Amino acid sequence: MRLVTFKSADFPPKVGLISDERVVGIAVTNNPYPDMIEVIRAGIESVSKKSAETYALSDVQLLAPIPVPAKNIICVGKNYYEHAAEFHASGFDSSAGKDAIPEVPIIFTKPPTTVIGPGAAIQSALDLTNSVDYENELVVVIGKRGRGIRKGDALSHIFGYTIANDVTARTLQHRHKQWFLGKGLDTFCPMGPCILTADEVADPSELTLTTRVNGEIRQSARVADLIFDISTLIEIISSGMTLDAGDMIATGTPAGVGIGFQPPRFLRPGDVVSLSIDPIGTLENPVT
Ligand code: MG
Repeated sequence: MRLVTFKSADFPPKVGLISDERVVGIAVTNNPYPDMIEVIRAGIESVSKKSAETYALSDVQLLAPIPVPAKNIICVGKNYYEHAAEFHASGFDSSAGKDAIPEVPIIFTKPPTTVIGPGAAIQSALDLTNSVDYENELVVVIGKRGRGIRKGDALSHIFGYTIANDVTARTLQHRHKQWFLGKGLDTFCPMGPCILTADEVADPSELTLTTRVNGEIRQSARVADLIFDISTLIEIISSGMTLDAGDMIATGTPAGVGIGFQPPRFLRPGDVVSLSIDPIGTLENPVT
């Protein structure tokens, strides 16, 4: 299932699924108008289509699948080999250690106020240092609450997958040592277009990422190239911290970000950033 949160001028946000270029509203058991987190808690077995609520995709506005996350989005830094090397060599890496490849995952978060949906504008002017960069990332959406989740059980805790742009103000990221401020500006986490449920992803390591800026390919990679794979990340993050339904983990970005170029190619007003992860879909956002 491709689950979306959508709205129009005629109705407030609701949850549906995409089928043949159309959006069909859904209910879950005992709840005719669930939000996405309520759908995740209920599970896909409890989903029913409301065929009376069917719309052309072009007639509705997609929001981020979870427009207001219950807590910060958990993110992983430097988690692809080639990106770790390009970031280390860029001069913008203030993370501890002199080695490019981290020995343990680097974990930070982005606040819920960063989240915007497909087509919404990344407001580059909020970064007064003019160093806005893009990062295409596969996001794991947790379905089953747990702590101390073992690697072997990790995939059973995943509800589905979506795409995020871990937009970053590089100068702030470098200047303030911890990454929270440079990655926490409003509009700096476009997400979507849908959550592809885990039953349709036999092996997440087979997913592929492609990033285009104004149509030019900048990033192209396989999730199989992660330094710390998804099961390992869930085991480490949950070892002493409860992961709850609707929590999200952005798994890191591959090589090809703006600071990988010499000189850096930062985003500018008028640019369009398009992130594809096959088979989830494409997340496109303009920069203003
Ligand atoms: Mg990132």
